[in-house]
Amino acid sequence: MTYDNENIFAKILRGEIPCDKVYESDHALAFRDIQPLTPVHVLVIPKGAYVNMDDFSQKASEEELADFVRAVGQVARDLGVVEAGYRTIANNGADAHQEVQHLHVHILAGRDLGGMIQRFKDQ
Ligand code: 5GP
Repeated sequence: MTYDNENIFAKILRGEIPCDKVYESDHALAFRDIQPLTPVHVLVIPKGAYVNMDDFSQKASEEELADFVRAVGQVARDLGVVEAGYRTIANNGADAHQEVQHLHVHILAGRDLGGMIQRFKDQ
């Protein structure tokens, strides 16, 4: 799995393009999605160069893993969405339509999010 240093989130991490930051820790950064799908739509990313959850879960240090998971929970609390509820999604690879090849967890909230996934007729 090859990490592309020119992906858009790598550029955000290097400060080459701006983001609407909501949280930062030693190993994680969170910022608002540029095309929000819900009233609250924030992306949490590790600062390390990891393509997706498969890459991160194999190569990240215990410290990075812990920091990232704690960041997701902290951001949700900071956003004030815990009581009403929120959804976390990480798209990984082609079938999941992962667009940006740097691991990111979406935090979606601010309205009723409906069922988790569309059921297709041929399933
Ligand atoms: P994916 O489909 O890979 O899970 O989600 C990628 C997300 O990144 C999309 O929701 C898209 O709107 C968001 N995104 C793409 N480019 C940018 C950008 O330059 N800035 C921000 N903040 N979000 C972006």
